[in-house]
Amino acid sequence: MRIANVDGRLKLLVGDGAVDVAEASDDRFDSDPAIGFQRFAELRKWAERVEVPLEAFAPERCGPPSPAPRQSFGIGLNYVDHAEETGMALPTAPLVFPKFVSSLTGASAQVALPEGNVDWEVEIVVVIGEVARAVTAARAWDVVAGLSVGQDLSERVLQRSGPVPQFGLAKSYPGFSPMGPCVVTPDEFENPDDLALGCELNGDQVQLGTSTNMVFSVPQLIAYLSGIVTLLPGDVIYTGTPAGVGAGRTPPRYLEPGDVLHSWVEGIGSIAQTFTSSENR
Ligand code: ZN
Repeated sequence: MRIANVDGRLKLLVGDGAVDVAEASDDRFDSDPAIGFQRFAELRKWAERVEVPLEAFAPERCGPPSPAPRQSFGIGLNYVDHAEETGMALPTAPLVFPKFVSSLTGASAQVALPEGNVDWEVEIVVVIGEVARAVTAARAWDVVAGLSVGQDLSERVLQRSGPVPQFGLAKSYPGFSPMGPCVVTPDEFENPDDLALGCELNGDQVQLGTSTNMVFSVPQLIAYLSGIVTLLPGDVIYTGTPAGVGAGRTPPRYLEPGDVLHSWVEGIGSIAQTFTSSENR
């Protein structure tokens, strides 16, 4: 199953088209995309039998598929090749930071650049589909609603400031957590632990990787997180980025007004952000 948030309404994607879930279900399901994750198992069952006329799917009108997660996590240094380009040792446990939910935006957004050095990080985003507490890695895919494409945009000066680095704020400016265009359930992939992902800046490929290079796989991340906090339906996890970020280049390259960033994950789709100067500049 593939679902999206189009103009704030929950849509089921079928082929090239979309079905409005509230209308097609005679309001059995709410139109609010956030509610879909609260009743995810029921939604999946219903979606198997849907046969209604399709409307055109407009990815450029997609908001974040999970628009109001109660918790939003980022994972640092979670690809072997990215850890290498930063010169840091591989983490021995997942390095977790918040991506505050006010930074979420959809698949096709304009993002204002704050002062500093704003960098790109293409990521696979996990959306949680049920209350999950102390889940084993073996069962972890069962609590995943699906996967989406994301960017963990990061302002590197603030990220590295202070005696102890604290990533949350530097990765939570408005628009710094794009995700979309849809959420794809794990069963739609041949192997959800082996997905290619990448991004292009103004048409030039800057990142290309595979999730088999993760230090901690999606099941391991869910086992770790759910052993500490209770994961809730609609929660999102930005699972880390492969090599090729701007800070890892010689000389470093950061985003500038007018830049266009395309990001994609195999089997899901792509998102695009256009960057503008900050209104405060
Ligand atoms: Zn990241």
